[in-house]
Amino acid sequence: MKEFIYNGQPSRVVFGAGALQHLEREIELLGARKALVLSTPEQRDQAQRVADRLGSRAAGIFARAVMHVPIETAREAREEARRLGADCAIAIGGGSTTGLGKAIALDSGLPILAIPTTYAGSEMTPIYGITEAGLKKTGRDARVLPRTVIYDPALTLTLPVALSVTSGMNAIAHAAEGLYAQDSNPVMDLMAEEGIRAIAQALPGICRRADDMGARGEALYGAWLCGSVLGNVGMALHHKLCHTLGGSFNLPHAEVHTVVLPQAMAFNAEAAPRAMARIARALGATGRGSAAAGLFDLARDNGAPVALKDIGMQASDLDRAADLAVQNPYWNPRPIGQAQRGEIRQLLQRAYEGVRPD
Ligand code: NAD
Repeated sequence: MKEFIYNGQPSRVVFGAGALQHLEREIELLGARKALVLSTPEQRDQAQRVADRLGSRAAGIFARAVMHVPIETAREAREEARRLGADCAIAIGGGSTTGLGKAIALDSGLPILAIPTTYAGSEMTPIYGITEAGLKKTGRDARVLPRTVIYDPALTLTLPVALSVTSGMNAIAHAAEGLYAQDSNPVMDLMAEEGIRAIAQALPGICRRADDMGARGEALYGAWLCGSVLGNVGMALHHKLCHTLGGSFNLPHAEVHTVVLPQAMAFNAEAAPRAMARIARALGATGRGSAAAGLFDLARDNGAPVALKDIGMQASDLDRAADLAVQNPYWNPRPIGQAQRGEIRQLLQRAYEGVRPD
């Protein structure tokens, strides 16, 4: 077995259908008295229900979270927290809302209690991102890791089916890359394989019935595992490509992950055979190239997009995307640099057209 380092992350996880009922207890355990509740405008009602449940322990609601945490929104939310004397932030929503909570914590050290309602996994990571003058800066800081996470599948019943599938694929991407990470470790490998299995099994059930609590619970359980992997080990080519496509071409986050993942796995397949075997086993896929093809089939069979051309990418931007993707590359099991620009361009072409890898 190879050498490894494992760092446990200090967060508390409360999981279960109806787990939101434990909110007061969890706020009390954090020693907080005045919580600022964060959400997107679309989830204001859920934020209001959280505030109602807290009564006098709710300092207020800030329902202006948006994708990629613009610095202006982060500043407004920080100011609102200060003005109201909040001693805790509750982020109810997906990665955008959790990201806003992280931006507040980075500046103020305020503890965050996260209540995730998508499968993006940000709640399990010390990674933050803030966008200033069109550029998203990301970093790691222990202060931004939510102290407590309440996973309540009942809150995900309203997540639209299409977003449930792409968000699930986004989660699987963290686990898939975690399996071949340079700093991988056996605990994360176990979580990654189980996370992929759970989400892959849950998605067809959610597509059949969006309010299937069993499938919703299984998907959220998988999201927790996959998010933990993202928080503990480094990511590689797939995440670099998605950051490039999402950041420079403004493509939707979860959909980009869904389309790129099978192509990135096909690219890395020969350099990471053990990871591919575990991904294929988790998907129940067999045969040569089965990890990449299995991920493609999982997306396609559950009605998700498999081609960049279907999610807003322009063919004329593919050359620039390839140029950007090979600049400051992340570590990858198959080395990436200027010399691989042509192969990355081909990968992007296949992703653009939605070619099934085999
Ligand atoms: P999101 O948070 O932007 O949510 C998408 C939309 O779905 C929003 O309108 C939201 O209000 C709505 N929504 C969420 N849950 C819902 C529910 N249960 N019912 C109805 N509507 C619901 O999307 P996301 O994919 O969760 O997050 C993407 C963002 O998170 C990106 O900016 C990405 O970079 C970031 N992210 C960060 C990390 C990290 O570790 N820092 C990890 C993953 C993602």
